[in-house]
Amino acid sequence: MLDLDETLVHFEAAERKFRLRPGCLAFLRALAHPYFEIVVFTAASQDYADFILNVLDPDRNFILHRLYRQHTLVTDEGIYLKDLSRLGRDLSKTIIVDNIRENFEKQDANGIEIKTWIGDPHDRELDVIAGFLRGVVDAGVKDVRPIVKMFREQYEKELQREEQSAAAVTEEMANKSIRTKGKASV
Ligand SMILES: [Mg+2]
Repeated sequence: MLDLDETLVHFEAAERKFRLRPGCLAFLRALAHPYFEIVVFTAASQDYADFILNVLDPDRNFILHRLYRQHTLVTDEGIYLKDLSRLGRDLSKTIIVDNIRENFEKQDANGIEIKTWIGDPHDRELDVIAGFLRGVVDAGVKDVRPIVKMFREQYEKELQREEQSAAAVTEEMANKSIRTKGKASV
């Protein structure tokens, strides 16, 4: 089960066009039948989602089913919940990848919260997750949930580490620019 916006693509409203996350097509190819029955489940409107999906997978070779906003449950707080129990699939064999954790809170154990993507060309998150997902199938895991939990802990740690090192780089650059400014004024 895959989310669309900021998971597989990002729509630039100002430019009125969307971009594919790096590795998006390879991700779909690597995980499609016979690995997974890929479903895109988006909280976006059907018109918008079909516009993108008809470009992404025009012949429906990879994404077998499409679920839209009308298939979500809307909470009083306005959160669109993706309730996996309504899909008629075995939850011990179902994984959702979404950049917003609240969206899959009804089956939190089945979900991987992928880093939000808005255009970084160096992003490799889909490769990382594809590797994990293929491994789950190759290993013939009986219930995906405990394995998803283990992966997630590791994945979240990685993201934290990345954020910390990015913050450290920014700080170093800031320090350098202060030093350079200092030198320039000497
Ligand atoms: Mg999203």
